[in-house]
Amino acid sequence: GYRSRAAYKLTELDDRLHLLKPGIRVIDLGAAPGGWTQVSVERGVTNIVGVDLLPVDPISPAQIIEMDFTDPECGPLLIRMLGGAPDVVLSDMAPNTVGHRKTDHLRIMGLIEIGVDFAISVLKPGGSFIAKAFQGGETSLVIANLKHHFTEVKNMKPKASRADSSETYLVATGFKGRK
Ligand code: SAM
Repeated sequence: GYRSRAAYKLTELDDRLHLLKPGIRVIDLGAAPGGWTQVSVERGVTNIVGVDLLPVDPISPAQIIEMDFTDPECGPLLIRMLGGAPDVVLSDMAPNTVGHRKTDHLRIMGLIEIGVDFAISVLKPGGSFIAKAFQGGETSLVIANLKHHFTEVKNMKPKASRADSSETYLVATGFKGRK
């Protein structure tokens, strides 16, 4: 079985996208408790590196570290562990909410933007990025930014994501590369 409900969301997304397959390099941001890594490994991905603030029980052959992704040393470390540029960057990162609406929104958007910047700076040309986001607010700005860098950008809401939650997934494919 899967360690998280989130695993069913990635399953649904990838059943439509077919991005996870043997031979590719994958990074999983906000990996705990490990559901997305499990789905990736099950689909034949062997070169996958994940990170979370929380510890994750091993999922062979994935490598998962316990670290804050906003630490500027984290991204370069993940790439070294992976041994090269990723084909796919996954981010299901979500900060703990503090209950203050404006603060929570800023923290969520900050984390999404850090994920986007990372994907744009490390992906292989042709690569893909999937990230949890939230409807409204600045998400349309993030989508506009992604459209500069990817040939296709979609906003997908898997059935496994509760209809009453504003959670949505941004799916960007066909990374255009860095000039
Ligand atoms: N995709 C995961 C799965 O299938 O098991 C579920 C991820 S959960 C919805 C979000 C995760 O993001 C939490 O485990 C949280 O600790 C992590 N997270 C939040 N901020 C983070 C940060 N700055 N660095 C690393 N992980 C972070």
